[in-house]
Amino acid sequence: MPERLPQHKHCIACGRAVSPKDEYCSESCERERTDILAKKKKQLLMLYAVSVGVVVVAFILAMV
Ligand SMILES: [Zn+2]
Repeated sequence: MPERLPQHKHCIACGRAVSPKDEYCSESCERERTDILAKKKKQLLMLYAVSVGVVVVAFILAMV
């Protein structure tokens, strides 16, 4: 007979089972995850800044 697991979720970072009210199995997983998200956000922001910069430079060059 299949064993019934109690209500649980999986850690967003490593996939281990956690209680439904938790998103991470440990603090280090939470920190790891938020670190990655923060880095991705930074990268996206950088990319955005660079593309805006390129457009501005192209605009200036077109005006000259
Ligand atoms: Zn984890």
